[in-house]
Amino acid sequence: MNYDYLVVGAGLYGCVFAHEAAKAGKKCLVIDKRDTIAGNVHTSENMGIQVHDYGAHIFHTSDEEVWQYVQKFAHFNNYVNSPMAVYKDELYNLPFNMNTFSKMWGIRTPEQAQEIIGKQSREAVIEILKNRGVSEPTDYDISNFEADNLEEQGLSLAGKDIFEKLIKGYTEKQWGRSCSELPAFIIKRLPFRFIYDNNYFNDPYQGIPVGGYTAMCERLLGMRDDMGGQICGIQAHNNITVRLSTDFFEFVDMKKQRPGREITSKDGDTFAKVVYTGMIDEFFGYELGNLEYRSLRFETTSMPEVDNYQGNAVVNYTEREVPYTRIIEHKHFEFGKGRGTVITKEYPSEWKPGDEPYYPMNNDRNNILFARYQREAESWTQVIFGGRLGQYKYYNMDQVIRQALDAVKRNF
Ligand code: FAD
Repeated sequence: MNYDYLVVGAGLYGCVFAHEAAKAGKKCLVIDKRDTIAGNVHTSENMGIQVHDYGAHIFHTSDEEVWQYVQKFAHFNNYVNSPMAVYKDELYNLPFNMNTFSKMWGIRTPEQAQEIIGKQSREAVIEILKNRGVSEPTDYDISNFEADNLEEQGLSLAGKDIFEKLIKGYTEKQWGRSCSELPAFIIKRLPFRFIYDNNYFNDPYQGIPVGGYTAMCERLLGMRDDMGGQICGIQAHNNITVRLSTDFFEFVDMKKQRPGREITSKDGDTFAKVVYTGMIDEFFGYELGNLEYRSLRFETTSMPEVDNYQGNAVVNYTEREVPYTRIIEHKHFEFGKGRGTVITKEYPSEWKPGDEPYYPMNNDRNNILFARYQREAESWTQVIFGGRLGQYKYYNMDQVIRQALDAVKRNF
């Protein structure tokens, strides 16, 4: 069969692209090597609770067009992300704001908080400079201080208390090494808020799709039409075929494909264009080397007898000694009240080829390698490399949707 598009990956990028292509009358085959659609935003139902299978996903955006767009495929609730942090037996609000400072130091006013942070930051810089051999650091030395690593950067920006209780252990778990071995640029600045406001994001729009992200992606792919009939539905449905448990590299013999030419599957299907949202280095058979990632392991537990495990959707564990970085209690994303709850512990882990690639490691080595793959990709004019793996970049959901909509505008 002849298709206009082969969409590799039924994640958000693939779903949005396929939807728009289908609306424009293009025939699309969407494949995914997983047996589910929705990629990493996949949600599944357990005891009536939408479980975020690949980690907490909170939709937030400043992009008006993207916000209007997603409303067509889901009703969003008014969930506002207000995570908590646990350090030993102490409980703090995040992001760093007056509630955090007040709990940490027993103070009340922004002036007091600024004074403590300023004092602790200055003390930390003086100590670092002394350790570097500057016996009496001057104001000039202090204001021109440059951190050599993340430990120094964190201490100089936040001071000892906040850095040691809320940043250090969490960051070390995330990256799998000590802050003194990590580059300073990972933390450019810290979003201190000197108001009593626990809303984690600054974006004007935020929420969780009622009924889950999988249902939202089903609507995008025309597999579900339950939002009043005015959306996508019928036409998209006619133009999109979804095939799961199908790996692109088994579906297509890459040795037989040529840059700039239509792509042919082993079954003889032809595709004028391919939208590829898998790993870009895998597309080229890793011929220039592997791009690196950080991975995650999720440990999900159903608790039919527990109504409310932790009282909040997201609780971060900031001590190094606790092996997971956070616990998600999924029902709180939808203000769930019923019996039973489901929690997920999130463990960061080293990535090796074959593991699920969650976070790109955008260091110099990998960025240079990615740029070389991008140059290779230029001659494959029939392939659009999109999404977080195709572009080797951490994207939030709204950014991936924006990317897909822009690709649509460029292509038809
Ligand atoms: P994916 O969702 O990864 O989809 C790519 C798809 O391609 C996958 O289904 C994969 O199976 C398939 N595929 C890959 N290779 C092949 C192949 N060879 N053949 C066939 N199929 C293939 N964003 C937010 O906005 N808010 C959040 O709170 C948030 N939280 C996050 C938490 C975690 C732990 C992570 C990892 C990410 C989070 N994100 C969040 C980012 C969000 O997950 C991404 O923006 C989004 O999922 C990217 O969509 P995508 O389509 O690019 O990639």
